[in-house]
Amino acid sequence: MNHPPATNRYRDSWAGELDATRADGPARVSGWVHRRRDHGGLIFIDLRERSGIVQLVFHPESAPAAHAEAHKLRSEDVITAAGTVTRRAAQNVNPNLATGEIEIAVSEVEILADADTPPFPVDEDGPVDENLRLRHRSLDLRRGPLQDAIAVRHRAIKTMREVLDDRDFLEIETPFLTRSTPEGARDFLVPARVAGGRGPGHFYALPQSPQLFKQLLMIGGFERYYQVVRCFRDEDSRADRMTEFTQLDIEMAFVEEQDVLETTEAVMGAVFERAGLEIPAPPWPRMTHAEVVGRFGSDRPDARFGLELSDLGTALAHTEFKVFSAAIANGGVVQGINAGPRALARSDLDALTELAKQHGAKGLVWAFVQDEAPGWRSPVAKFLSESEIAAITKTLQGNRGDVLLIVADQAGTARQALGALRLELARRFELVPAGAHDIRWVVQFPMFTYKPDEQRWDAEHHPFTAPATPDGAPATAADLDDPAKLLSRSYDLVLDGNEIGGGSIRNHRPDVQSRIFELIGIDESEAQARFGFLLDALRYGAPPHGGIAMGVDRIVALLAGRENIREVIAFPKATSGGDPLTGAPAPVDASQLRELGLKLG
Ligand code: ASP
Repeated sequence: MNHPPATNRYRDSWAGELDATRADGPARVSGWVHRRRDHGGLIFIDLRERSGIVQLVFHPESAPAAHAEAHKLRSEDVITAAGTVTRRAAQNVNPNLATGEIEIAVSEVEILADADTPPFPVDEDGPVDENLRLRHRSLDLRRGPLQDAIAVRHRAIKTMREVLDDRDFLEIETPFLTRSTPEGARDFLVPARVAGGRGPGHFYALPQSPQLFKQLLMIGGFERYYQVVRCFRDEDSRADRMTEFTQLDIEMAFVEEQDVLETTEAVMGAVFERAGLEIPAPPWPRMTHAEVVGRFGSDRPDARFGLELSDLGTALAHTEFKVFSAAIANGGVVQGINAGPRALARSDLDALTELAKQHGAKGLVWAFVQDEAPGWRSPVAKFLSESEIAAITKTLQGNRGDVLLIVADQAGTARQALGALRLELARRFELVPAGAHDIRWVVQFPMFTYKPDEQRWDAEHHPFTAPATPDGAPATAADLDDPAKLLSRSYDLVLDGNEIGGGSIRNHRPDVQSRIFELIGIDESEAQARFGFLLDALRYGAPPHGGIAMGVDRIVALLAGRENIREVIAFPKATSGGDPLTGAPAPVDASQLRELGLKLG
């Protein structure tokens, strides 16, 4: 700890910091009974608080009253104890404990609070049913893993604030009770009795992000804004996503992509360094969206291992094998990966085929490279000429024993299926070198994707993102007449295959912004009703601006080496989205509903 506790009736020292320099002197400590051991006459108590653990020893002869009291102590009772710091005999020194050279011979102990028997052991870090842990969160928080994770979280956020403060950013709060902020998820709606004086049928929405407010702050002349802020998206909870989550939200005026990327690298580089994560020093590689999906089959590339995708179109230009020729004739692709020399049984290949199908592929072609003709052991070898087999093997750099996996489909599907196979093979054969990290930027995403069922375009990042022409230059309103071609001025930061942040340069020209709304199916009156405040503000002189948001929960989980973001949040929701601790969401009284003018269906 940085600062000693003030001496009071409970303690004068941090329990976990007592050492031999205090030997033979007095000490008073407070905390929880971590563990208790009776050794014949002596009673040993491990006392625990945030700073660590110290051993208390109770002697029946020298302190009979304290010893009698110690008999009553049970796990998690809260006590204060005073006595003499004593060196342990050499054979009793515990090298695993920071305070292992000493113990406190207790002369006086007071029970400050009794504890019922805890529903799970607090002195062990072993697995416990998650619902039980969430229901008794204060007990779970006492355990080592959460104590550590919450401290990692604090330090990461503190570093973010320090770096941004050094660079003249102001932390500015934005409202939680607001209007819908479209980030592609469902809104949480909040009925309100006052409802701005507008009466029943009017709802606030909780922000999916402070996107529009941070843009208004740029128009408002603040130049550099950040906020460690909660965002709310009514989506299913997953290991890496929750209905409420924390972002480091950043926005800057008079900037281009490079400025935002450089600022983010300074912030995140410092966060990684202070957390001891060995990440290469910035600048981090920038790759276009087209390149990463082509090479890794994903816009969140994990480049810590090979197995990159290759296009087999040239090798198969004249093939008569229907599965391949039909895919190419239909505007699709034939692509493959070299899975390397793997012993895969028929059942393994079936499982990989199933995985490819789950990702939309119609099937999976597999082949084992062999020396004898025709060069492959594969159910499709007989449909391909020896020269085609040789050309595919060459393109995929196949050597004897390698397993080649090939998908013929529309480009998007083939890439997605091969991207998923790549990750599965890496997991299964432990292809990621221990301790390896890979960080990179993905830039120049497509601006729009077409939604055939709704017959409209949708913004790939969000509609406030500035479009770019195919050569990467800022697009004008006129360029928007050909939406399929447009790229966006957006960027994602990807660490070890996880998207840890994303943002864009924004539209600061009202004509471009209005045209984008129109393209995504928001007509002028709807745009005015929903985003009139932004469009108005853009009309009074908006600086070019852009920003980014980093996913704090996921970043901290990576820093702390946890799989699940719930392990780095003090009070997370369960996977169901509910909160087993408070029982939220909960029914409300009929009178509350009446006040809000709501009727349940
Ligand atoms: N508002 C965006 C998000 O929450 C981030 C950004 O564009 O700055 O993903």
